[in-house]
Amino acid sequence: EEKMMEINDDVILSFLKRRHYKQLQPLAALIDMDGTLYDSMGNHADAWHRLATELGITATREEFFMYEGRTGASTLNILFNRAYGRDATSEEIEQFYARKALYFTQMPSVKPMPGAMQMLDFFKEVNMRRVLVTGSGQRSLIDRLERDFPGAFTPDMMVTSRDVKCGKPHPEPFIKAMEMARVRPSQAIAIENAPLGVKSAFDAGAFTVAVTTGPIPREELVKAGAAIVFDSMPQCAEMLPQLVFKMFSLSIS
Ligand code: MG
Repeated sequence: EEKMMEINDDVILSFLKRRHYKQLQPLAALIDMDGTLYDSMGNHADAWHRLATELGITATREEFFMYEGRTGASTLNILFNRAYGRDATSEEIEQFYARKALYFTQMPSVKPMPGAMQMLDFFKEVNMRRVLVTGSGQRSLIDRLERDFPGAFTPDMMVTSRDVKCGKPHPEPFIKAMEMARVRPSQAIAIENAPLGVKSAFDAGAFTVAVTTGPIPREELVKAGAAIVFDSMPQCAEMLPQLVFKMFSLSIS
């Protein structure tokens, strides 16, 4: 059972100081997809782990949660450097990423995260623009958004792997999302579940809300720049009204 918590003013004030902002004016929510809107991270980790095992590369299932946000090529290079001391060739990347993507589609169907719709509804109620910010190019999931979260993201409010040169942890995806929403960094909240995504959002200047929806310890999310960490998406959805109110009301003189 989730218990109601009080958000400490210092969550906002220390972020303002760290970023040298005088105040925040949350007008846009920049929202990650895998592990935030969908419970898809276990499947991604299983698919990567299966591939690594077949290639004879030692890997734990858990490490793939830490790589979340990286491109497929980048994850393959980590594995190849460990096993063979070199990057994967472009042929290897094409072949093995296709195999990983195939394994992902063969896994049990992923479900919308509990609390995700409630969160999206809240942002709508308070007239905050909603932008999807995903490193994914996995169309099977992106194409489901309209069915699972009707009206939440219009096509001009989505950043996917096709829209950026540099993926997370580079700040480009969140900077692009701010441009789409026509907001400054101090006017954006990011919602993320992975350290590399948190780093990307923090470096872009957004107030970053992290949610632990997998095995990643909360300290990793704090280290990456999260202003606040919630234990679940339902808790995040429940606490957002209080958080957004405090963001609007506190300032540094
Ligand atoms: Mg994620």
